[in-house]
Amino acid sequence: MKRTIFSEDHDAFRESVRQFIAKEIVPNLPDWEEQGCIPRDFYKKTAEIGINGLQIPEEFGGGGIDSFLFNTVVYEEIGYAAASLGGFQVHLNTVLPYFLEYCNDEQRRRWFPGFADGGLVSSIAMTEPGIGSDLAGVATTAVRDGDDYILNGAKTFITGGINADLVIVLARTDKDVENRRDGLSLLVVERDMPGFSHGRNLHKIGMKSSDTAELSFVDVRVPARNLLGEEGRAFGMLGHNLSQERLSIAITALATATAAVNLAVEYAQERLVFGKPLAGFQNTKFVLAECATELAAGQALVDQALVALDAGELAPADAAKAKLFCTEVQARVIDKCLQVHGGYGYMTEYPIARLYADARVTRIFGGTSEVMKSVISKSIGL
Ligand SMILES: Cc1cc2nc3c(=O)[nH]c(=O)nc-3n(C[C@H](O)[C@H](O)[C@H](O)COP(=O)(O)OP(=O)(O)OC[C@H]3O[C@@H](n4cnc5c(N)ncnc54)[C@H](O)[C@@H]3O)c2cc1C
Repeated sequence: MKRTIFSEDHDAFRESVRQFIAKEIVPNLPDWEEQGCIPRDFYKKTAEIGINGLQIPEEFGGGGIDSFLFNTVVYEEIGYAAASLGGFQVHLNTVLPYFLEYCNDEQRRRWFPGFADGGLVSSIAMTEPGIGSDLAGVATTAVRDGDDYILNGAKTFITGGINADLVIVLARTDKDVENRRDGLSLLVVERDMPGFSHGRNLHKIGMKSSDTAELSFVDVRVPARNLLGEEGRAFGMLGHNLSQERLSIAITALATATAAVNLAVEYAQERLVFGKPLAGFQNTKFVLAECATELAAGQALVDQALVALDAGELAPADAAKAKLFCTEVQARVIDKCLQVHGGYGYMTEYPIARLYADARVTRIFGGTSEVMKSVISKSIGL
């Protein structure tokens, strides 16, 4: 189906991004997966072609673009190339929006140029060993002491946690609250602050080019000037920003599932079974036709959500619907496309195997499918 949300400018940008990915990502991905992270100089390279600073104001070296559509082009093209760059995507798609939305003028001057030129890498630490879905229950504390907060706690599963120079940490700043959603704040912790350390790079079944870490905070003195937004209001800030994060996950889910269908079509045309191309069997055609149809339905949902996001009108329940639907479609489609590959699909040298392993997490991070259903059910009065 023809998409109507992109202009000629987006199409031209897409072409240059596609060429960049073919040259700078595709050949390097196996090495990055082996190393368990993306090298720092990659962020400099993407900065050179303007990807990092798309939405950063021009005065700080960015592109000054309000719309999220150029970002969408980048993440779609990464997915179409059957790649996933968790740390990079979280840095720009999840963390940067918090800085764009909530930094004061002094913080903008301090951090925006580093985001735009690729010198700064960031992550966000909400999840703890004992708390994931129920974020209001975080045990990490930040107690005010003069001009600082004293931060204590532990976080886990933090994407980009090894590479990060700046980590947004969700912590409780006030225990005496009636509603436990109050009294939570976001603090920006810097890599070299005494008492802050990261553990090993956690081993995952997929997303292997993405560093995922446990973080520890022991009496870390975080200056009050590193408070992001208003003290005690983090829950509302998360609620606001999670919509864009969830839509980003939906975008990537559809793009990687599209890559899977393309791989399966190509494979089915080449592979001979019982003396004729696999693509010639009605089952193959029907399975891939179902996949293409599911992708088209997901695309319509995502494109409508993107229009709402750009208009500042994306409701949390609608973002949740997009994430829920597209990540479940991704799982079904990639599974079917792997089946088309037979035993070769189970071999890690085939990109479909990587897509299969990478896809599993999209129904978990950014809020699980069950949490999405809770958000949606509230919106229909349940
Ligand atoms: C690869 C990876 C990268 C990640 N990156 C980050 C990151 O950068 N920053 C960060 O802060 N976190 C990150 N996470 C954490 C992720 O967001 C959490 O894993 C996720 O929110 C779920 O939390 P949990 O693992 O504690 O599961 P739990 O909350 O313990 O949930 C366990 C199960 O219970 C279900 N459940 C929970 N509540 C309900 C309910 N009310 N009704 C029904 N079922 C429910 C869940 O859906 C799930 O199936 C990452 C996780 C992974 C795996």
